[in-house]
Amino acid sequence: PELFAPERPNSKGWDLTHRPTRAAIEAARKPFSGVQWTATPLVAGDAETGATDPVINPARPGDTVGSVTWATSGTVATACTVATPWNADAAERAEVLNKAADLYEAHYGELFALLAREAGKSLLDAVAELREAVDFLRYYAARAEGPDPQGVFACISPWNFPLAIFTGQIAAALTTGNAVLAKPAEQTPLIAYRAVQLLHEAGVPTTALQLLPGAGDVGAALTSNPAVKGVAFTGSTETAQIIHRSMAKHLAPGAPLIAETGGLNAMIVDSTALPEQAVQAIVESAFQSAGQRCSALRCLYVQEDIAESFVEMLTGAMDALVIGDPWIYGTDVGPAIDAEARDGIISYVDAAEVEGRVLHRLPLPGGGTFVPPTLIRVSGIADLEREIFGPVLHIATFKSKDIDTVIDAINGTDYGLTFGLQTRIDDRVQHVSEQIKAGNIYVNRNQIGAIVGSQPFGGEGLSGTGPKAGGPNYLARFRRHPADTAGD
Ligand code: GLU
Repeated sequence: PELFAPERPNSKGWDLTHRPTRAAIEAARKPFSGVQWTATPLVAGDAETGATDPVINPARPGDTVGSVTWATSGTVATACTVATPWNADAAERAEVLNKAADLYEAHYGELFALLAREAGKSLLDAVAELREAVDFLRYYAARAEGPDPQGVFACISPWNFPLAIFTGQIAAALTTGNAVLAKPAEQTPLIAYRAVQLLHEAGVPTTALQLLPGAGDVGAALTSNPAVKGVAFTGSTETAQIIHRSMAKHLAPGAPLIAETGGLNAMIVDSTALPEQAVQAIVESAFQSAGQRCSALRCLYVQEDIAESFVEMLTGAMDALVIGDPWIYGTDVGPAIDAEARDGIISYVDAAEVEGRVLHRLPLPGGGTFVPPTLIRVSGIADLEREIFGPVLHIATFKSKDIDTVIDAINGTDYGLTFGLQTRIDDRVQHVSEQIKAGNIYVNRNQIGAIVGSQPFGGEGLSGTGPKAGGPNYLARFRRHPADTAGD
C-alpha cells in the first residue's frame, strides 16, 4: 500500500502532554469562549434564505454558540444554477488547498473552541479532528490532476466529524476540479461556515464552493437536482439508501454515490492478550467521542477463561472516565450531540436494564445532553439489532475452539467497517484478519482514529460503497472517465 506522500507529511498536530503546547491552546481558545458565531447559506448569487435558529452547546444548555440561517429548496436551486466547476489548473488548485490547510492550522484556537462548543468535542478529539481535516486537504492536494471533473458534486456530511469529514469530501471534490455544494449536518453549521470561509480566503472561487446549511429537505433538494453529477455522503445506512433512490430517480444514470455509513464493529480478545493494553484499547474504541464514531467498538468478544477478571478491569477503567463539559481539559466523555440522540441512547440502555443485561452503567452529571458509558451483556453480536451511536458497549464471551463461529457471526451482520483483535498468537492474527470482512482491521491497538494516507478508511457491505477516504483510490470516482465508456 502507498504510504503518505513523503513531500507532504501529516499535520504535526498538537501534543497535549506538552505543557507549553497546552497552555498555548488554552490561550488561543479563550477569546472564543463566549463568542457567538453565525452561519448562513454561502451562495454566489442572489438567493432566498429560510428561517434563523439559535445553535446551543450540547454540554451547556445556557451557552448559545451562535445562530444559523437555513437554506431552502429555493436556495439550492439558485446554488445549482451558479455552480461552476473549478477549471484552474491542477497545480493552482493544489496550492489553494494547501493554503487552506495552513489557514486551518493557524486558526486552531477558534476551531478547537467551535469543536467543543458546537459539537461537544473533547480537546483530544478536537486536536485529532483538526489534524485529520488538514491531512485531507494536503493529501488530496498532492494528487490534484486534470481537470476532469464530474461537474457539480453534492457533499453531505455528518455532525460527528463536522470539520474533518466535511473538509475531506470537499477537498476531494475540489482537487479533481468539481464545483461543490456542501450541506453540513444541521447540528453543526457554524464550524462548516467557518471552514468554507477559510477555503474561500485561501482562494477557492465562491462559484466552486457553496454552503447550504439545512436538514434532510435541503439534502433531498440537492440529490434530486439534475445539475448534480455526483454525491459524497457520510451518515447512516438508511439515509444513504434514501439518497441512492433519489439519485436513481432524478440524476443521470451512473452518477456516482460515494457513501460511508454505519457499522456494528466488533473486537475479539483472547486469553493471550495483554489485559492492560486491551482494556485501554476498548475504552478508547467504545467511549472516546462518547462512542459517536462509525468506527467505534460496539460488541466485544472476550475469551471465557479470562472473562471474569477482564470484566473487572474493564469496569474499573470505565469508573475512571470523566464525563462532562468537553471545554475542560481532562474530560474523557462529552455529550451526545443533541437531546434526541441522548433520549434514544438512554431509552435503549433503560430497556437493557429492565431485562437485567446491564453489567455496568456510569452516573451522569446534570446539565448537558450527557449519556452514560454502559456495558451490556449479550450472547453475541446477532443480538444487536441496530447501531447505537453512543458510548454503549456490548460484551459476549467465547470459547477458543469456537472462534470461527464468532467470525461468522461478525461477518453475518452484513456491515463491515472496523474490527479489532487482541492476541499474541501470530497464526491467529493471520487467520482472523483473513476471514473477517471489514474495511479497517486493527491488531493490538484501538480501532478508531484512522490516519489519512497510512490508514485509508472505509467499509464494505452496509458500511459503505468505498473507495476509502484518505487513500490513493478515493479521488477516482470524483473524476470523469470518458474513455471508459467511449472505448467499449
Ligand atoms: N475515520 C474515523 C475513525 O477512524 C471515523 C469516521 C466516522 O465516524 O464517520 O475513527
